[in-house]
Amino acid sequence: MRIDVVTIFPELIENYTSASILKKAQEKNLVKIKVHNLRWFTLDRHQTVDDYPFGGGPGMVLKPEPIYRAVNFIKSYTRSVPRIILPSPQGKIFHQKKAQELAREKHLLFICGRYQGIDERVLDLLQCEEISIGDYVLSGGELPTLVIIEAVVRLIPGVLGDSESIEYDSFTEGLLGPPQFTRPRVFQNLSVPQVLLSGNHQLIAKWRYEKALEKTKKVRPELLNLVKKEKE
Ligand code: SAM
Repeated sequence: MRIDVVTIFPELIENYTSASILKKAQEKNLVKIKVHNLRWFTLDRHQTVDDYPFGGGPGMVLKPEPIYRAVNFIKSYTRSVPRIILPSPQGKIFHQKKAQELAREKHLLFICGRYQGIDERVLDLLQCEEISIGDYVLSGGELPTLVIIEAVVRLIPGVLGDSESIEYDSFTEGLLGPPQFTRPRVFQNLSVPQVLLSGNHQLIAKWRYEKALEKTKKVRPELLNLVKKEKE
C-alpha cells in the first residue's frame, strides 16, 4: 500500500510514522508513507496556504489551489488514482469496518485540514471522502490522519508479527475484546482467572467470548444490535 499525506506540519506525521509498528511496516515494504508539505505547492513568496473566509466570520480557510496542485502532483508522480480522505468532524464516524475496507486499497491520500477547514470546492473537485474520528473538534487533521493510518496499516497482512493479536482485538467480531492477563499469576492478591491457566483452548475461547459479550453489554450495548443485524 502507498499512503500520501498533505499537511502544513509534515514533522507531526513523520515523527509518529517513523516509530513502532508503522516504522516496521515500512521497513518490511508493506507500506510506503510519503509526507508532502502543502507549502511546497504554493506559488507566492510567502508560501500562503490560507485566506479569510468569504462571508466573514472568524479564522482562516485553507486555499483550494495549493491542495489541488498537491493532489495532482501526487497523482501524476505515482501514476495512480488514490482514494482521497479528508479527516473532518463533518464526516462519517470512523470505525473498524472502515479500517478493514481501507486496508484493501492500494493507495490512500490524506489531506490534513487546519484553521476553519478547507475551501469546499476542493472537496467536490477531488471527490474527497470526509471521515471523522469522533464528535469533538481538534485543531488539525494530522492526529485523525495518524489514527486512521495506524488502524489501517495494522490490518495489512504481515504487519503485525503475531497475526493472532488481531483476532482478540475489540470490534474484530463486532464485540469489545476480552480481558487480558500476563505474569505474575497473583498480583496484589488478585489471581489470573483459573480457566486461562487450564490449557484447554476450547474452554478458554468460550470464556473469552462470554467475557467479551458481558463487557459489550455493559459498556456498548448498541454494538450488539449491529452484530445481530449483520447476522440477519
Ligand atoms: N470548522 C470546522 C468544523 O466546524 O467542522 C472544524 C475545523 S478544525 C478546527 C480543523 C481541521 O481539523 C479540520 O479541517 C479537520 O481536518 C481536523 N479535525 C478536527 N476535528 C476532527 C475530527 N473530529 N475528525 C477528523 N478531523 C478533524
